[in-house]
Formats: sequence, structure tokens, C-alpha cells
Amino acid sequence: MSKPVEEIRIGVYVCHCGTNIAGMVDVKNVADFASRLPGVTVSREYKYMCSDPGQELIRQDIKEHRLNRIVVASCSPLLHEETFRAATAKGGLNPFFFHLVNIREHDSWVHENRQDATAKANALVHAAVERVRSHKALTKKQVPVNPAVLVVGGGIAGIHAALTLANAGKKVYLVEREPTIGGHMAKFDKTFPTLDCAACILTPKMSSVKSHKNITLWSYSEVSRIEGYVGNFEVTVRRQPRYVREDLCVGCMECIDACVFKEAKFPNEFDEGLGKRKPIYVPFPQATPKVAVIDPDRCLNVKTGKCKKSCVASCDRGAIDFTQKPEDRQIKVGAVVVATGFKAFDAKRSPQYGYGVYPNVYTSLEVERLVNASGPTSGEVVLRDGRHPKTVGIIHCVGSREEHTNRWCSRVCCMYSLKLAHLVKEHSGAEVFNFYIDMRTPGKSFEEFYQKLLKEGVHFVRGKVAEVNDWVLDPSEQGKLVIRVEDTLLGTVRRIPVDMVVLGVGLEPHADAQEVRRLFNISCGTEGFFLERHPKLAPVNTFTDGIFLAGCCQGPKDIPDTVAQAGAAAAEALALIDSGHVELEPNTAYIVEEECSGCKSCVPLCPYKAISYVEDKKKAVINEALCKGCGTCVGACPSSSIKQNLFEDEQVFSEIRGVLADV
Ligand code: SF4
Ligand code: SF4
Ligand code: SF4
Repeated sequence: MSKPVEEIRIGVYVCHCGTNIAGMVDVKNVADFASRLPGVTVSREYKYMCSDPGQELIRQDIKEHRLNRIVVASCSPLLHEETFRAATAKGGLNPFFFHLVNIREHDSWVHENRQDATAKANALVHAAVERVRSHKALTKKQVPVNPAVLVVGGGIAGIHAALTLANAGKKVYLVEREPTIGGHMAKFDKTFPTLDCAACILTPKMSSVKSHKNITLWSYSEVSRIEGYVGNFEVTVRRQPRYVREDLCVGCMECIDACVFKEAKFPNEFDEGLGKRKPIYVPFPQATPKVAVIDPDRCLNVKTGKCKKSCVASCDRGAIDFTQKPEDRQIKVGAVVVATGFKAFDAKRSPQYGYGVYPNVYTSLEVERLVNASGPTSGEVVLRDGRHPKTVGIIHCVGSREEHTNRWCSRVCCMYSLKLAHLVKEHSGAEVFNFYIDMRTPGKSFEEFYQKLLKEGVHFVRGKVAEVNDWVLDPSEQGKLVIRVEDTLLGTVRRIPVDMVVLGVGLEPHADAQEVRRLFNISCGTEGFFLERHPKLAPVNTFTDGIFLAGCCQGPKDIPDTVAQAGAAAAEALALIDSGHVELEPNTAYIVEEECSGCKSCVPLCPYKAISYVEDKKKAVINEALCKGCGTCVGACPSSSIKQNLFEDEQVFSEIRGVLADV
């Protein structure tokens, strides 16, 4: 006996969304229109469909009117598809007998004419009513989650995320591409606005990372491949050779003294090139791991093979090992926290400030090292020409809020410029001028810090600096740099001679941010920082499930915000892992085996490597756990043997018929 044909009974619900939709769309008209469509049993409009009473309407109607299909016309599926699927399921229906129509982002928010917007809403609802008839019952598959987490980047964001996860008992792999963790914060002298010592608050956390039983720290390493999906990522980490064995080196520095280069002559990256190091070095005293590293571009033995290798002989632990090669480590993790940080703006891109031309023009990071007791001058502010500055000009917004470089505000430069003004004055007694466009001090105790500097006698000039030059007017200005600026408060152009210029450089994405984005299959915003899933509701999530963002790789932020965001990313990763499993969306593609000709056209097309070819069956198969439902293979299959749940031909064509019906 054939199965009786199911009577289709559709409920349509049109949401006002306050005035977001109802302000531009005549929702009553849409509900009336829907009520006349074939198969529609109930049609209502309601102020907030996502509210409890709104959802209750759906649940009751399913029961009272024996509805078997639901259409809600409201906002983006990104926000409330799950809400209404759940309401449908609570009413006793399979949640995939529901379809959402977006009449807010796709209609009311982008139209200015009420009549047109209402006509469009009617057409979209008509399309949904047509397509929902052919929906099928679907179920979400559950797959177990691997409880380990990969944290990429060992700055303060990565360190905090790793410790939070490890303290919660999770296995963490922390991968850092530099020889040590610590990031930019390790280079700072003090932190604003409290002026506490950056190293004093950071290095205990660095030590905790090293000693934590749940953390595997791989510095001088990079993620080279990541495959899989939420809960089940397979990652390859490439470990670069340091030519020093981590398991043997104790960081005693004997090898550094013994190196055939008697003088340290190569720029020390940690001191922003102001200090020097040898080919074998420990980046800074509290480096973690405290293990020497050999720079392959500087070491005579690595470059030429012709060195007497006095370093090797000096190490009584036998830690130096020139046979080391890059090594790949394979790991499996359930979640990833990307915390790759930022790059400071290259001041040479704004040539009007004379960086790289005049030796006494410095970047803010260079000055961080100059005022640092562990820096190249032991905290003494000495210029490159050996003089002590008597007047210093600090220019804000270099590489921020500029048409020709970066248009965004880097958020931290006002405050760190104030901090440097205080520290430079404290260390040198110099007269300090700050040149700013607007003073932005919106954090806790930030405005008070600004007021404190005013009291300390720091000068503030409001205006964008036009240029820095060495055009002195009389002998008293000899050796000085001249800052030319329009003082917008005085309404006059000024020239202020100073001994030292400090450029408050902005924050930008790393040069390889696009490669990292592709590697992790995440998105970037227009400015190149990694894009969060939703700026307010999912600020640490990405569009790839299981991959979270922390710190400045998502956008400029100060240390407290970075730490807060790292904690949030760790909490999201924990929530994912502790759920024990993930549910996979059923909108995946599938192959009708009898129709597949085995031509293999689809196999190389899948961007997620979800399709494989089974030799003995001579058929292609799709791994549903890997399929993201992009539809590429569906359109490409020459025998039309690939179908996709929720995008079956019948569903798509009836939707098109519906949208065109009243044209
Ligand atoms: Fe000391 Fe040997 Fe490590 Fe050099 S490699 S720091 S000599 S333990
Ligand atoms: Fe220095 Fe020679 Fe050792 Fe290289 S091999 S670190 S150049 S002593
Ligand atoms: Fe791959 Fe996209 Fe086809 Fe899924 S729908 S198998 S992700 S090509």
C-alpha cells in the first residue's frame, strides 16, 4: 500500500522587530498576504517573534492547528535560526521543517520605500512558503571532541589563554614562532596607567607556562598545516632548528662568551636593533624557554661550515647540535585559539617624520627599550649621537588615522605616548612636548593619567605634525630637529626645535596575516585584522567553528582588553571541549551512489577535502563531518548525482517559483 500524501499545513509568522522591520514593512499586509497562499493554515504578525511569548505562539499553533511546516519572517538566520528551530522542535516537529526569511537585513534595513519593502517581504515569504513544503526531516550528527587545545602565539594573549585552559585541566600546545614567548609586552618598561613594571607582571606568567604540566611549549615553531573540523583538528607544527638542544641547555651563556665573534655586532631584535648580540644568543634574561639559539644567517658554521666552533667546546652539557633539522610534529586538538598579535607600523612609510633619515628620530618601541633598565642603555636616555636630550617631541597617530597609511585608530598610542612622556621626563629631566590630533583616554583611570601629566608639566600641542626636518635658523638650534605643526588651539603654524623625536607608531596586522588566514580558514576585515563572527555577540569566535581569536590579531587593543579577550577565547574553547561532542549541521552534500559515474571531477574541487574516491567501488564519497555545504561539488557533478540537504533541486526551484509568482 502506498504512503498517504501528507496534507501540508503551514504556519507563517511575521515579526515587527520593534520598528526595525515594522518601520519600513507593512507587517500586517505581509501576514494577510501569506494567509491567502495555498497550504497556509495560520498566519500572524507579532512584535518580537524571538521573545518567549513569540516562540510560544509557534509551539501552541503546531499543537492546536496541527501545523507541519513553519515559516518565520524576521531577522538574519545568523541570529535566530536556532531559536526558531528550537521552538519548532518544542512544538513536536522536526526542526528542519522550519524556514527563516530575512526581511530585516535583506529588506527593511536596505529599502527607503515602504511599498517596495512590503512587496519584497511578500515575495520572500511566498518563496519560503513554496520551498518549505518540500523540506525533509533531518537530524544533526554528533561527533566527539578532542579535549586538547592549540594556542598559536605566545604574547600576553596566548600566554593567558594557555594558562586559563591548562589550569582548567586541559592539555594545551602553545606554539610561538620567535625563540621565546613574551611578545611585545616583554619589551615594555612600564604599563599604563598604573606604571607597574611590565616584566614583573609578565615573567611569572611566562614561567608558569614553562612549568605547567598541562602545557607543551614549542617556541621557534610555526603551524604549517591544519586539517579537520571543529572538535577534531589535525595540525602539523614545524619546529625550526635552534642548533641548541632544549632538553640539555640551561641558558648559562658560556657559549655566547666563547663564540668566535668576540664582540656582539649584530642588531638585537629584542632591543629593536639598539643593542647588539652575537650569532648565538639568549634573546633576553627572562626568555622562556631560557635556551640559547643560533641565528643561521649570522653563524659562521651554518653559513660557511668554516668555524672552529668554540661554542661547541665551551658547552659542558653538549647542548649545541649543528645536525638539527626542521622537524614536523603532528598533533590532534579539538579547538584552536589564534593569538598571533600585531606588527608595529613601519615609520619609514611616513617619510615626513624623518625616521631612518635623522638618527635622533625614534619609534615608540625603541624608546620602550631606551627607558628600560634591562635595555641597551640600562634605562639612560642617550641619543644615537651620544647626547642627552633636553627637549623631546612625541608625535601621536603615526600610521593611524591617516589617509595614506592606515585609517583606523590604534587605540593604545595616546596612552602609551603619555606613558613615554612621563618616563622620558623621569629618566632624562627633558622638556617633553606631545603632538596629538585628539586625546583619546577612554579607559579606567586613563583620563586621570592624562591630568597627572598636565600637572607634571608635559606640554600638549593639538595638531597634526606636518614634518620633521633639520632646518635650523640659528646656532642655538644646531643639532636639533624641527617639528612643524599647525597648533589648532592657537590657530597658528609653529616650529618647535627638539633634540629627540619619538614616533607613536600604530598597530597593524602582521605582513603574513593573509597566509595565516588561509591556513586557518578564517576571515580578515578590510584592514587585514582577523574577523570575529559578530562584533558584539561573538567577538572571539570566527566563521570557522572551533577556532577562536584573542588579542591584537583581531584588532588593536591594550593589555587589559587583550587579557580579557584571551580569557573569553579560552572560555569558549572550554565550553566546546566540555560539551564532549559537537553537532554538525545537516546541510551537507551527499552522493547518490547508483548515479555516480566515478568520473572524479568533484574530488579536487572540494575546498574542505571532504570528497574521496573509493577505488573498489569506483565511486566518490563525501565525509559529512568535513563537508561545509558550500555546494561547489553539487553544481560541478556532470551526472547530477550530488545532492545537498536543504538545497535539493525541488526546494531551490520552488523557492524561485515563489519569489517570481507575483512579479
Ligand atoms: Fe650554556 Fe650550553 Fe646552553 Fe650555551 S648551549 S647556554 S653553553 S647550556
Ligand atoms: Fe659562533 Fe662559530 Fe659557534 Fe657559530 S659556530 S655560534 S660563529 S662559535
Ligand atoms: Fe566539499 Fe562543498 Fe561538496 Fe561539501 S558541498 S563536499 S564542502 S564541495
